[in-house]
Amino acid sequence: MTKPAKLRRDEAGTSSEAGDGSGMGTETTGVSALSASPPWGPRAGTPRDQKPRTLAGQAAERLRQDIIRNRLHPGERLTIEKLMRSYGVGTSPLREALFQVAGDGLVRVEDHKGFIVAPLNFDEMRDVSSLRAYLEMNAIRRSIENGGDDWETSVLTAEHRLTKAETRLEGAVGDELILAEDEWEHRHRDFHYALCSACGSPWLLHFFDALYDQLERYRRHFWRYEERARGAHAQHEQIKEAALARDADRAVELLAEHFREQADLTVTPASPTQSKRNSPR
Ligand SMILES: [Zn+2]
Repeated sequence: MTKPAKLRRDEAGTSSEAGDGSGMGTETTGVSALSASPPWGPRAGTPRDQKPRTLAGQAAERLRQDIIRNRLHPGERLTIEKLMRSYGVGTSPLREALFQVAGDGLVRVEDHKGFIVAPLNFDEMRDVSSLRAYLEMNAIRRSIENGGDDWETSVLTAEHRLTKAETRLEGAVGDELILAEDEWEHRHRDFHYALCSACGSPWLLHFFDALYDQLERYRRHFWRYEERARGAHAQHEQIKEAALARDADRAVELLAEHFREQADLTVTPASPTQSKRNSPR
């Protein structure tokens, strides 16, 4: 059976075989090199780590990133003319992009009022988190059953890269911190993706990306990465060890705990000096 291709998005639309941390935020774990795109599934022939081929797809990707990274704020009204100027596209591709991103839940279509950035809500975040946990627990079980040496290597590599990204968060400030946070999210996605990547279901991996986007958005609003990422390190390492030991029950249990804890951390009010932003509107 053909294994699913890696569908990770690269913000810049390009990837490179980075060695050990140069080119922050643009490297892949090598998972994409493991297998070709499957001929079926929601993204057959259009892996997410490739630049979208249509203007609408490119605008959708920019809009998605602007929302996840809070350059567009929760509840903000989206003005067609402004976005057209910003993304350099016409009305039709832009409207198509807005509906695409609305389909992922990041934009809301308001009756007779146009489009707004979806508001944040902790109940929604918990709902997404529990669904993501459910999918990834299923996926890791299947990956442990199906995955070969290449899968093991991809998990090892991704966890190593994530650990390196954690160290770059320490003491980072200003633009350096923004880059380090981007890199951590990038590599965190890669690690969880690697765990799931041998599950054999392009549909599951399709939902993986949409749900990851949602939770990343909440983290970017409410986390202080240098503390929270360090706290997650031990969990990621234990999940990796269980996966490589082919202990599916243990891996599933650890993943469930990981998601519960991450959700709790996101809703836990930080002290004023630690808080990046306020509660969801
Ligand atoms: Zn994680």
